[in-house]
Amino acid sequence: MQKHKTIIRLNSIKKIYRMGQEKIIALKDINLKFEANKIYCIIGTSGSGKSTLLNLLAGLEKPTSGQILFNEKIRLDKFNENKLAEFRKRYIGFVFQSYNLFPTMSALENVCMPLIFSGVKKKIRMAKAKEMLKLVGLENRLNHKPNQMSGGQQQRVSIARAFVNNPKVIFADEPTGNLDTKTTFEMMDLITGIAKKNNQTLIIVTHDLEISDYANVIIHIRDGNVDKIENKK
Ligand code: ADP
Ligand code: MG
Repeated sequence: MQKHKTIIRLNSIKKIYRMGQEKIIALKDINLKFEANKIYCIIGTSGSGKSTLLNLLAGLEKPTSGQILFNEKIRLDKFNENKLAEFRKRYIGFVFQSYNLFPTMSALENVCMPLIFSGVKKKIRMAKAKEMLKLVGLENRLNHKPNQMSGGQQQRVSIARAFVNNPKVIFADEPTGNLDTKTTFEMMDLITGIAKKNNQTLIIVTHDLEISDYANVIIHIRDGNVDKIENKK
């Protein structure tokens, strides 16, 4: 039996955005535990706080109060911007709804980016990026720019980029929001397949109930709070 250690823990997390006089409470009091090698879906209606939660988990934003622990000891809530950037580079991969590829770069160059940031040598970087693009079925599109590819192909490039550094945790915010149903299933099969093979943790935000079929754990968010947690398998 595979052992699941806790990889991220949230204790009493609150996130308040201030806009002029107005205070928006995006997350009220979140207590959650994420275990390694599992697939999580975070589900909720628009505005419920899903993206805010994902951004905190991924070290893209800081909480207003509360603790975020990575591997039970790294206190992300205490990190400054530089340390958070370093942390993300080392442990985290991202897939976005709008792909977020560099428009002037080829598929290959886009996938190479995280490796450049990590200081990997050019020859190794090219080999790794090619291997990842092959894995996502784009070995014939290495030199295509984003606007020369379909939405599904662009999302495959962004998946290759998210996984190329072999991160511990991959976050995806509505990764299939711009894709048709068939492509959605292909994309989910791909992401979950790679994550399982490499013992990675996957945390996916979605409002698409079909995607939750892939999850081990479904976390329902409502009005900035955890409404319900479903353990599926
Ligand atoms: P979801 O991803 O579930 O649609 P979000 O996490 O994006 O929801 O947003 C939760 C709430 O916080 C919303 O009311 C939203 O308007 C607000 N919010 C999110 N980001 C910001 C921000 N940068 N500044 C101010 N308010 C924000
Ligand atoms: Mg969102």
